Amino acid sequence: MDNINRLSIIHLDLDAFFASVEQRDNPAYRDKPLIVGGISGGGVSNLNRGVVCTASYEARKYGIRAGMPIWEARQKCPRGIFVPTQMNKYLKESRKFFQVCSTYTPLIEPLSVDELFLDVSGCESLFGSSEIIGRKIKERVYQELGLKVSVGIAENKFLAKIATNLGKPDGFYIIPSKDIQKILYPLPISALWGIGKKTEELLNKSGIYRVEQLARMPDSILENLLGKNAKKIKLLAQGIDENPVTPPSTAKSIGKETTFSTNITEKEILVKELLKLSQQVGYVARRKSYKGRTITLKIRFQNFTTFNRSKTLENPTNLDDIIFKTVVELLGKVRCKKGGVRLLGIKLSNLASGNERKQLKLLREEEDKKGDKLEQLTQSLDKIREKFGTKAVTRASLLSNPKR
Ligand SMILES: [Mg+2]
Repeated sequence: MDNINRLSIIHLDLDAFFASVEQRDNPAYRDKPLIVGGISGGGVSNLNRGVVCTASYEARKYGIRAGMPIWEARQKCPRGIFVPTQMNKYLKESRKFFQVCSTYTPLIEPLSVDELFLDVSGCESLFGSSEIIGRKIKERVYQELGLKVSVGIAENKFLAKIATNLGKPDGFYIIPSKDIQKILYPLPISALWGIGKKTEELLNKSGIYRVEQLARMPDSILENLLGKNAKKIKLLAQGIDENPVTPPSTAKSIGKETTFSTNITEKEILVKELLKLSQQVGYVARRKSYKGRTITLKIRFQNFTTFNRSKTLENPTNLDDIIFKTVVELLGKVRCKKGGVRLLGIKLSNLASGNERKQLKLLREEEDKKGDKLEQLTQSLDKIREKFGTKAVTRASLLSNPKR
């Protein structure tokens, strides 16, 4: 028999969250194709613009998905019911959902407003096995919120999320450790984290369609195909994921520092170093799906006096360009001492999980066009970094004319 104690990770995901809240509150919407979306703050008049935030399961039968333009959704389902998003209402429900879950363990990692991981190892003596805890939460969420939540249980985060998706909607799915291969191997490769549309196409072209093929592929061949990501993806294909459930408070800041071997007096060298550090901090933040509002420059002089200068931005960021511009600005405010600088550091703090905002971003898509472009550029640079190493990309444009 499987040792149930090893299955300590629970993934929970509310089904069609925004749409389910609306269907709960408006009996006329129940069992109907319901589409929640449009531009935030807008009433009915804005419902022809913007994108779908959530489609009820009835609407999904027409091929309607989150992120799809509203006009397209109307084409696919002219008789659908279209309602505007009421974010405050959903956030209130989201808080209740998190509260229910947090009565069982403090080890909660939110992925978005309606999705989270729990690590219940060590809670068994209090509440029973992960299966009992999972069932209890599912029942309580339905009783107390009137919403259905899908539950996935496994020995790690990756498999628990797979389990949830296999059970959806209204699911309760356990992947026992002895069945990992049986369940995971037949799945399409897109089930793996890190395999997007492009990578999927690339692998399909090489005749690779199923997880099993990746799990059994020799490292060298996989590295040729996937570059630096090969190792991580192969481990996932084998059902291995060592990432712990990380409550957001654990990551209070992301920082990088450089100590120079000789004290630096030239500002140009300091600025170059700041660019490197900005890229490192931004990269880590993006990998962990964090954005921060406060950027701090740390500078230590030859005589060991240390200054910290911070700036809090209006909008949280994880973009190299913005971090870099901010620290250069901060550097301009520090009076440089004789003897030069021995240490430079950058810290991004005041962090929020990026995934949560990704969902909110759907709501204010229009305002964000410019920011999105920068984000897209940064994302493609990250891909190059992943493939060729962090030194592959230097944003020459950032260095060419730094304002000082
Ligand atoms: Mg959901």
